[in-house]
Amino acid sequence: DPALNLQYRQGPEIPTLKYGFPDSHFICFPYETRRTGIYAAGCLRQPLDSAACTEDAAGAALKAMQCTVLTSQGCAVHPRTWDKSYPELFMQRCTQCKRCTEECPFGMYNEDEKGNPLPNPTRCRRCAICMGACPERIISFKDYSVDIIGSMLKSIEIPEEDEEKPRVLAFLCENDAYPALDIAGMHRIQYNPWIRVIPLRCLGSINLVWISDAFNKGFDGVILVGCVHGDDYQCHYIKGSELAKIRSSKIQETLQRLMLESERVEVHQLQIDQWHELPQIFDNFMKVIEKVGPNPMKGM
Ligand code: SF4
Ligand code: SF4
Repeated sequence: DPALNLQYRQGPEIPTLKYGFPDSHFICFPYETRRTGIYAAGCLRQPLDSAACTEDAAGAALKAMQCTVLTSQGCAVHPRTWDKSYPELFMQRCTQCKRCTEECPFGMYNEDEKGNPLPNPTRCRRCAICMGACPERIISFKDYSVDIIGSMLKSIEIPEEDEEKPRVLAFLCENDAYPALDIAGMHRIQYNPWIRVIPLRCLGSINLVWISDAFNKGFDGVILVGCVHGDDYQCHYIKGSELAKIRSSKIQETLQRLMLESERVEVHQLQIDQWHELPQIFDNFMKVIEKVGPNPMKGM
């Protein structure tokens, strides 16, 4: 179909879960599938009676209309509906490793016969998972890149060791964890003052270089908080938080290389209605960091 362009490297089928229903975000975007522009409704989506199917079809049709309007304006579909940026690839340094083509949850990249990624921009949801996956760091957005986040963390002030003020960096997913912290703030719940927060489009966009940058800068610990993954996943980009978990297993190698304790990095899952737990997660991590002591690279 020329409009939907179903020539995906993974094949023309809609990816499904183990019971044959489309893989989607069932809480926030119930009609969405992993094929941008295709919305599932009725018994195709979940077991429903005929009245519920009719209602479901209306919802999916509205989503399809919204997709048409947003796409014609050059914007992403949900959740970043205002976003007009696209991933830009500096192909001169591409090693054809296929990490981006394999890890994009929405099949945005096809491949040529040499293994070069071939972008299909209208499929893209702007999650930046490919940016976090690329070992050459050659995928970026105009307003979101490995360098931009690296500059943000390097501009955070780190107190001197003799000031006895630890500094911890929190990477929070902008979809659940970051608004959860906002809600905790609105409820006047206090959390540890030594935490500094950088929101990420998805925890799957984490690039491991940010972890070593943070410790080289003098942070005493790094905490990552993303959406729930597994069978009842809540990641807005399907696989982002799961991929972050897989990537985080490599964090230990980074810590070993820097000769730092494994306790200095923690990865957590959080759903937005657990907002009241986030300050406690921070406080508990700060107790761990106090026990481990200051980062020996501080001030170097
Ligand atoms: S930003 Fe997300 S949806 Fe777009 S190409 Fe990268 S991984 Fe795929
Ligand atoms: S992940 Fe990076 S290096 Fe690997 S194929 Fe994609 S763009 Fe090229």
